[in-house]
Amino acid sequence: RMLKRRTDCHSDILRLDSPLLAIYESLIPPVEEKAKQKQLLALLDKLVCKEWPEARLYLYGSCENSFGVSKSDIDICVAFNEDIHDKSEILLKLADILQSDNLQNVQALTRARVPIVKLMDPLTGISCDICVNNVLAVVNTRLLRDYAKIDVRLWQLAFIVKHWAKSRGVNATYQGTLSSYAYVLMCIHFLQQRRPAILPCLQGMETTFSVTVDDVECAYFDKVENLCNFGSSNQETIAQLVWAFFNYWAYIHDYANSVISVRTGSLISKGEKDWTRRIDNDRHLICIEDPFVVSHDLGQVVDKFSIKVLRAEFERAADVMHYDPNPWITLFEPY
Ligand code: ATP
Ligand code: MG
Repeated sequence: RMLKRRTDCHSDILRLDSPLLAIYESLIPPVEEKAKQKQLLALLDKLVCKEWPEARLYLYGSCENSFGVSKSDIDICVAFNEDIHDKSEILLKLADILQSDNLQNVQALTRARVPIVKLMDPLTGISCDICVNNVLAVVNTRLLRDYAKIDVRLWQLAFIVKHWAKSRGVNATYQGTLSSYAYVLMCIHFLQQRRPAILPCLQGMETTFSVTVDDVECAYFDKVENLCNFGSSNQETIAQLVWAFFNYWAYIHDYANSVISVRTGSLISKGEKDWTRRIDNDRHLICIEDPFVVSHDLGQVVDKFSIKVLRAEFERAADVMHYDPNPWITLFEPY
């Protein structure tokens, strides 16, 4: 059977805009959910400050970076003014306190890469992960949130890509696929690369916000309210962007030589970063530079098996966007 191929400038693709936008809208959390999150944060703040008056609580991750879909878990960081050498001790103490306050499923995971306490609040039904002094995550959350304020198409694209990744089982770092954080960086980079560009490179502009965390200087232009017309000379719609995003990762990206970098707003070479060889468990089969910790490749979790799974999924998604009569359904079919 010969299928007609859609092209990204063909009017046929514009027909996909409204079903894709409907999916995006169905994923946005309702306002009541935000209120419940604030309520839980206030409760936790009270409990933490009773024990550690100098500690501050910060939301990070998708509940704060604005890329959270409805019913997401929330991520909280407890920040102390001093360095904490034994995070386990703090987390175990915290787990005790939370348990005595009737929070449910309280569990301290002290050996995880990022040690946390998990809990479920029976009052709001919200689950939450609490970590200690992970301030870099608070700052990269802020960067993502600022990018989201510039052009609504980043929001739309990232919601659809995250929903696709969860539906297709390629959003699990413990299985060698990518984190939500990595997917959002891929979306930002992709929109920085459109011509005309849809997003600027905030770290390449005048510094208006700067903090140093764990010896890493995090600096960028954060007056994003001045940039709300930035992408207006590019008229691409969500369907064209979803089409081009998957086409890029399926058929265009140079996996052997290129690193995507939101920090520079461009592609850089693996050679330049010395990411050409495997060192211990660090492979660089898909390279996504962290915007602040530039030695960190978010693709390092991907191994020689999972890269095949991931690339096959990008190709499937691109082909669905190219040929399928109902991509807004087929794209998200459970694997
Ligand atoms: P989801 O909606 O799937 O929960 P999320 O935005 O909360 O998505 P996660 O991958 O759970 O994304 O990560 C939560 C936060 O932790 C990210 O927003 C980011 O601030 C931080 N983070 C996650 N992975 C890394 C990493 N490898 N390096 C640095 N920061 C990370
Ligand atoms: Mg999260």
